[in-house]
Amino acid sequence: MCGIIGYVGQKNNTELGIKALKRLEYRGYDSAGMAIVENEKISSVKISGKVNQLKESLKKTDFSGTPCLFHSRWATHGKPTEENAHPQFDCSGRVAVVHNGIIENYRKLKEKLIDEGHEFTSETDTEVIAHLIEKFYEEDLTEAVRKTVSLLQGAYGLAVISVEAPEKIVAARMSSPVVISVNESGGFVASDPAAIVEHSQKMVFLEDGEIATVTEDGFEVTDMENISQSKKEVEIDWDLEEAQKSGHPHFMMKEMTEQPKSIKNSFRGRILMKEGDVKLGGLDEVVEKLKSIEKLTILACGTSSYAGLVGKYLIEEISEIPVEAGLASEFRYRKRPYGEKEAFLFVSQSGETADTLEALKKTKKKGALTLGIVNVVGSSIARETDAGIYNHAGPEIGVASSKAFASQLSVLTLLAVYLGRQRNLSVNEGREILKNLSGVPDSVEKILQKKEEIKKLAEKYKDFEHFLFMGRRYNYPTALEGALKLKEISYIHAEGYSAAEMKHGPIALIDENFPTFAICLKDSVYDKMISNVEEIKAREGPIIALKTEGDEEIEGVVDDTLSIPKIHESLSPILAVVPLQLFAYYVAVKKGHDPDKPEGLAKCVTVT
Ligand code: GLU
Repeated sequence: MCGIIGYVGQKNNTELGIKALKRLEYRGYDSAGMAIVENEKISSVKISGKVNQLKESLKKTDFSGTPCLFHSRWATHGKPTEENAHPQFDCSGRVAVVHNGIIENYRKLKEKLIDEGHEFTSETDTEVIAHLIEKFYEEDLTEAVRKTVSLLQGAYGLAVISVEAPEKIVAARMSSPVVISVNESGGFVASDPAAIVEHSQKMVFLEDGEIATVTEDGFEVTDMENISQSKKEVEIDWDLEEAQKSGHPHFMMKEMTEQPKSIKNSFRGRILMKEGDVKLGGLDEVVEKLKSIEKLTILACGTSSYAGLVGKYLIEEISEIPVEAGLASEFRYRKRPYGEKEAFLFVSQSGETADTLEALKKTKKKGALTLGIVNVVGSSIARETDAGIYNHAGPEIGVASSKAFASQLSVLTLLAVYLGRQRNLSVNEGREILKNLSGVPDSVEKILQKKEEIKKLAEKYKDFEHFLFMGRRYNYPTALEGALKLKEISYIHAEGYSAAEMKHGPIALIDENFPTFAICLKDSVYDKMISNVEEIKAREGPIIALKTEGDEEIEGVVDDTLSIPKIHESLSPILAVVPLQLFAYYVAVKKGHDPDKPEGLAKCVTVT
């Protein structure tokens, strides 16, 4: 999920590597490292911290060999320490590997390798790759990598160097990007065109299952069966900033587009379909305690608090545990009794949200069991909680959260099934929900393809000064999130409401100048939603309805519709939120605002 750079050639290796890592710094990372082949050995420097620290440490060396690898890590397995930073090595230190992604079956592979006598020095999933290459190496590094990756399940973009093959870098890809390029400056491997765009405008993008061997003067790409692949060079005419956004005009668009992948990453390796169950390694230590909890309180701020609210509906319905969901910023000042069998769940993308952290400290003082759902590994909330689940959504740069929210909903679904299976949820019921969850990435992809339709609606509605978002039950929180997105980036006044609450006040505001975005899916509250829509129409309020594909009934009632694929009601917010994100984005852009930098807002709210 973070940065890889490999270089084989005559340029100053360390300078080139540091510069390239700096090009990827905007994405955020927690540690970094490099390795270089020289004098028939591999030398390496790794740090926990910023690329500048790596640069300083490298000043004390006079590395001059080739090839070399550089990596900035976004930890998924193991804390962001020096030992866990990449490159990772085999037992002999003669093979170095950098890797982006997650190896789902690393535990099994690691156990087997340990039985065979391999010694591990890190907590990462990545280290198994280095030991497997050591095991399979005979004469050809590319062959050893091919044998290795054939055993890996999960996602990887990786690059390998070895003392035995000092003329090359071997790279491989599965669900995590790798580009290569060879020109008069030498051979390059990178996870991201932005890292090397200044050295090369022509790049070759690897496909899943491909393995590249890159030397100073050429490259060969083969598949898993060692069949040579003919590859086209792609001319990259992006400038550096565009390259950092992978060609998208804004990080927010890049991140919304990445949602199918980040949702998949959030459940990768965690679904046990046959058992209708879920494996959450981060909860192993508290599994017994969780079996006996009688109440769960979910606390968070902003977008994460809306994810928490969806979590309440999910967990109450699926696991039958009573759930309170609320704002950490309010909770921390509240005086309330604590139940003996009560657990607390803290949701935060950054893991540093100050109010959430304070609420966590308060509950810890009471001796309660604390859990976290956090995206940034090793962050304060991840460290302070008793146990937790990482999102694995990758770095999120856009201030207005998109892919982190979707992955929080996915993780909350996993948690609901996990707690449910500890209680009354049957294998079949669990399987049904998990099947629906597995189909979410494809459905999100379909919604993303409707960008043009949503753009047109944004054009039509952009000049209104007020907006109402309404939904019921699972999609009441979605309405809150839709309104928040519009406020955050387009500065239009927007309210999110439960549709049932309209008649308790807000409907008084409705007229032809106050449009409503109604989430009207074919679910248990559909008829109720239609009645609320009618009430708004009776007051001449313009309405956009988000409907389920194939629903014709609603067409005559509202002004405009957008549709999403049919899905289990409890999972519908993950799909329903995507058109709302895109709508807010296009309204902001059409009004001339930069959605990545909303005025007065910060990505990580570390003040209270
Ligand atoms: N899963 C690997 C680790 O935790 C790679 C993380 C990354 O993509 O940076 O070390």
